[in-house]
Amino acid sequence: RLHPRTLGHLPQRGGRLGVRNRWGAEEMEWGSVGLGAFLGIALTVGLLALAVYPLVRRSFLLWAALRALCFAIMSVALFPVALTSPTLGGEFRTDIGEIALSIAIGSTGPFLAAYIENRPRFARIRYWLRTLFIVGVVGAIATALAPLWPGFDLVHDLLLLTMILGMTAGLAAAVRSGSRFAQYQAVGYAPLIILGLLVLAYELSTGAPVPYWPVAALLAVLVDFMVTAGGVINGYLTVKRERDEAWADVSEARIAVATDPLTEIANRRGLALRFRDPAHPRPAALAVIDCDHFKRINDMFGHDTGDEVLIAVAEGLKQENVFPARQGGEEFVVLIYGEDYQRLAETVRRQITLSVLEKVPEVPFPVTASAGLTEVRPNDTLDSAVKRGDEALYAAKDAGRDQLLLWQDGKHSQPRLVHGV
Ligand code: GH3
Ligand code: MG
Ligand code: MG
Repeated sequence: RLHPRTLGHLPQRGGRLGVRNRWGAEEMEWGSVGLGAFLGIALTVGLLALAVYPLVRRSFLLWAALRALCFAIMSVALFPVALTSPTLGGEFRTDIGEIALSIAIGSTGPFLAAYIENRPRFARIRYWLRTLFIVGVVGAIATALAPLWPGFDLVHDLLLLTMILGMTAGLAAAVRSGSRFAQYQAVGYAPLIILGLLVLAYELSTGAPVPYWPVAALLAVLVDFMVTAGGVINGYLTVKRERDEAWADVSEARIAVATDPLTEIANRRGLALRFRDPAHPRPAALAVIDCDHFKRINDMFGHDTGDEVLIAVAEGLKQENVFPARQGGEEFVVLIYGEDYQRLAETVRRQITLSVLEKVPEVPFPVTASAGLTEVRPNDTLDSAVKRGDEALYAAKDAGRDQLLLWQDGKHSQPRLVHGV
């Protein structure tokens, strides 16, 4: 049993406050200063963990905060300073201290379980680490019940020993399985584990408490806190990095599914997204454009040259106030913005021929395109507008290809090229 004789080894505070040294200054009482510093650090670690929690929502932060709180309660209870109420007896205080210690050590298990890397091979270690918390709670209950039956003191000590051994074993297993987080944490816990084992071995064999063990315990916990604070920050940064990478992947994937891999302009999905995107104004018109006799290009120059032509066609579609998309095959749809959409549609159609001439010189004849243009009405869906564009396109093919026709009230006519092209 760690207490209550233990307290006999500590310097009692006994009215030292207000004692003046020979220069007349109030003398520092190092026990209080040390305890104050310890409480400050414990509070900082606990608050840091709680502050980070809403940002990354990982449960190890809550366990870290609980440990810090329990160690703080333990230190206040075990150290005889003016902070504690003089009406509380030493027995009661040491009981509180040991209950807090038991829960602090017990919560180290779930802390580690949540903190180490989330890999399938750690699942069993994780499970056993979590059960350590139950051992801690049982140990705390045993301490609380000690006044009823002194045997509970021994139960408490044995449970404490179980937890320290269990935690050491879990930590060692995680380190052996390659957990870098466990390696890091092992450094922080080493002093506490060694001290705990020494103290318990001494007490269980001699029946007498180790002198000054609470001071040594606080120093060991201090090392633990430093490492845990680093671990909390490291854990936060790791989670943040993982999340940032995941977001980057998601936005990359979003772009990829909306993009045609060959021409790198929008595909059908990209076109649909753009059409209903409230961040962009509604287009004034839409044109469906199809290359003329494209099969011939593939047949004469091969599929690879055909692909190069399609890339050149897409380049030709990239104009100001035009959103180009590949509908499939050698068929494209462009959304056109602004009043001057009739002229712009014809510019785009002719630009296809110029672009292919320039970029694919091995095709010696001009590659032309036919196009069907329609105004986009207020109640149009993308499909209803494309349907009219398609109708006008087929009329343009029927009329001999290499031309643009405008859909108007079910008829197809040459567009008004206000400024000429
Ligand atoms: P029309 O003037 O009537 O449109 O004649 P066309 O030959 O262009 O029309 P058709 O639909 O008969 O042929 C389209 C060809 O486009 C058939 C197909 O081999 C080719 N094609 C479709 N997608 C690709 C592609 O990704 N790469 C290449 N190189 N060719 C493609
Ligand atoms: Mg075609
Ligand atoms: Mg076609």
